[in-house]
Amino acid sequence: MQLIKIYDTKTKKIRAITPLTARRMLIYTCGPTLYQQAHIGNMRAYVFADTLNRSMRHLGMKPKHVINFTDVGHLTDDADAGEDKVEKQAAKECETAKTITTRLGKLFIQDLKKLNIRTGRYKFPRATQHIREQIQLIQQLEKKGYAYSIKDGVYFNTQAYKGYGALGLPAEEEGNTHARIEQIAEKKHPHDFALWKRTPEGVTRQQEWDSPWGRGFPGWHIECSAMAIKLLGKTIDIHTGGADHIAVHHNNEIAQSEGATGEIFANVWMHVAFLTIKGEKISKSLNNVYTIDDLEQRGYDPVALRYLFLQASYRTPLSFSFAALDSAQTALNRLRKEYATLPFSPFSYISKQHNQEYRRKINISIANDLNTAKVLATVWDIANNSTLKPAEKRDLLYYADRTLGILPKKNKKISNESETTVPEEVQKLLNERNVARKDKNYKIADTLRKEIYNLGYDTVDTGDTSTVIKHPVKKTTNKQKQKS
Ligand code: AMP
Ligand code: ZN
Repeated sequence: MQLIKIYDTKTKKIRAITPLTARRMLIYTCGPTLYQQAHIGNMRAYVFADTLNRSMRHLGMKPKHVINFTDVGHLTDDADAGEDKVEKQAAKECETAKTITTRLGKLFIQDLKKLNIRTGRYKFPRATQHIREQIQLIQQLEKKGYAYSIKDGVYFNTQAYKGYGALGLPAEEEGNTHARIEQIAEKKHPHDFALWKRTPEGVTRQQEWDSPWGRGFPGWHIECSAMAIKLLGKTIDIHTGGADHIAVHHNNEIAQSEGATGEIFANVWMHVAFLTIKGEKISKSLNNVYTIDDLEQRGYDPVALRYLFLQASYRTPLSFSFAALDSAQTALNRLRKEYATLPFSPFSYISKQHNQEYRRKINISIANDLNTAKVLATVWDIANNSTLKPAEKRDLLYYADRTLGILPKKNKKISNESETTVPEEVQKLLNERNVARKDKNYKIADTLRKEIYNLGYDTVDTGDTSTVIKHPVKKTTNKQKQKS
């Protein structure tokens, strides 16, 4: 199996990683705050998360991947003061918080789909649906002496917890986020952060809950710890997010989670560099945002944005411009046109033997810290290689696209994800046959192949497992069945 190497923000090294549980990769990605439609900068973080997910699948893993919805507790200054972004937006729109977060959650999923992100592969839990878990986690921290209560709420005591700042703390004098935030007067240290905020007297919030510390709402950071631990476990393989989360949100997540469980929270931390416009981070607060809708209205296919992202390393800041998007759209169109001309041959898998070199190249690039730029270069090498048979080209482009996700779905013929399109009956037989082959029970495997054939599918053995392709001819007739 390919050795997977990825850059870990915590150790600041490229590390070879192996999943904690055989082939399972437990991944948590910090999701959107549902107060405005996500912008293309946010989308860089999610296309990256999807590229990671696809890469893991490509390399034989079975990821379990959570992307949370922040629908409460994220305050306007990213720390412990200011207004709740969702409540503020609700007041502005004269809508309920629930209406807004439901609408924006749906819109977010739609946007992901437009970027060829298979949303069925992810769990999207909401913070408001995990209040109990957040309260329990805070109680654990209290018991261990890592929390203290002040008028404003319950705070994490970063001085009591040894090792706060696992991902590195920026120097105070540089005017970092911690130093910039409006301070809560009673906080013991500027790094301390809210676990639970009490609703101030005389105020009624739309979203507030009873707790051992009075009526209020959870802090922004605790939701990720609580949902990751609940849905994935105390220790996960990979945690991802945008680079702006490193200094505060992720340092806080580590302190809370490890403080409560006493175990390593995430084996590896991956962070996406910013998407910028004219040198500035794209951000709602800077008012320089474009959404997927904006791109569509200007006539772009959202997948062109995905192509643009894939051209650069996720660790390098990427400058967005419409000129760059134009080039990405042109390249994408050319590639799709070429792909559409390539004939599909059900027997093209035979060419696998001849094309190991290309496959190896693709796999090495993916396993080398998700070097999608190199995979794209190989894709063009394949597309322009006149010595390859058209069916071989198609097969190889499809192979690379399992990770890239830029080719149209309707051209799909061979797939390892056949379970989404293959009838249940066929899938069941295929699963049985995979087991039979694994047990070297070839007689049963052959019988099952015939049964699958009779249901209209050819079986293609590709290494350890098999896939099926619908054969172009119709199902065999009853007469033929009787003969065989
Ligand atoms: P938010 O909805 O603000 O919590 O952000 C959702 C995700 O998008 C987080 O992982 C952020 O770090 C990420 N993000 C926000 N702006 C950008 C940007 N300009 N470039 C890349 N990622 C971003
Ligand atoms: Zn988070």
